[in-house]
Amino acid sequence: MAGQRPAVRQRTGRHRPDQRRTHQHRGVHQMSTVAVIGLGIMGLPMATNLCKAGHDVIGFNRSQGRIDRLVANGGRGATSVADAVRDADVIITMLPDSPDVESVAGGEDGLIANAKSGAIWVDASTIRPDVAIRLAQAASARGIRPVDAPVSGGEQGAIEAALSIMVGGEAADVEAARPVLEAVGSTIVHVGPSGSGQTVKAANQLIVAGTIQLVAEALVFLEAHEVDTESAIRVLAGGLAGNRILDRKAAAMAARTFEPGFRVDLHHKDLGIVTAAAREAGVAIPLGAMTAQLMGALRAQGHGSLDHSALLLLVEQLSGRSRD
Ligand code: NAD
Repeated sequence: MAGQRPAVRQRTGRHRPDQRRTHQHRGVHQMSTVAVIGLGIMGLPMATNLCKAGHDVIGFNRSQGRIDRLVANGGRGATSVADAVRDADVIITMLPDSPDVESVAGGEDGLIANAKSGAIWVDASTIRPDVAIRLAQAASARGIRPVDAPVSGGEQGAIEAALSIMVGGEAADVEAARPVLEAVGSTIVHVGPSGSGQTVKAANQLIVAGTIQLVAEALVFLEAHEVDTESAIRVLAGGLAGNRILDRKAAAMAARTFEPGFRVDLHHKDLGIVTAAAREAGVAIPLGAMTAQLMGALRAQGHGSLDHSALLLLVEQLSGRSRD
């Protein structure tokens, strides 16, 4: 694109090696001014890791408390979306849902109207692929370089900078975003053009929800047969049934601890994305659709704030084995 500045600039003078760890990429120290909008469960630790990697991070969130926490962690606070993005080389949005990203992106005070030409916009939120494509077109028309980069790995992955990131966009834009993505993730894969990162994330959420449901059914089944679930989980994890849900969530599920993690509300949103996108493509996802119904039922029962592994509560209920 004509008149574009490189999104990632080399900075030497302001860099203080005693206080900041530089990010080494292709033999040069590359640091950017990075705006992060949405400092929630995921956005705050991601912004904090960007500070630790030596980037100049400016954050904005709807509630001031989260901005204050970023400032305490080494970032700067912005007073609005426009204030956050104005001087940013890279802008990351980490917001709950499609309408949130649309509202931050659009309008006179929004991201697209106020970001500088040539800035990279990484939307790390999980949103509808069709919305991601539409927003990418609107951003490109203003000289902003859009990358959809939804993440997997949960709060722990965000804290440990170990997220898996599925990236959609133009190859050159993805490469320009890579040093920033590498500060928050460990597996970064360019999967195709704009919107395809969101499509891959939808597939991710389909697999995760279905796996949680099957692990929940297995646990209630094992308990009904009075098998020691801890031993069962250990041996199952070593065989073909082994999976990350067993590794990371089964023990807490067996103990009926459902602290989020990833909220039922958000997984309900994601399964809406999956079922709509599957329908649009003419693909049948019977197990996914069933799991989407169960996630919706769990939410309707008032459990939207629990971890998605609370699907186990429904299995218990359907089996007449609820504990309360
Ligand atoms: P969250 O609700 O904790 O954080 C969202 C933040 O955005 C909140 O702090 C909120 O105040 C802020 N916000 C909302 N609208 C805003 C606006 N208009 N302007 C400024 N700030 C605004 O959500 P989260 O768990 O961090 O998830 C964010 C996204 O990442 C979601 O799309 C989610 O599906 C996805 N995700 C979450 C996880 C997880 O484990 N939590 C894992 C992978 C992906």
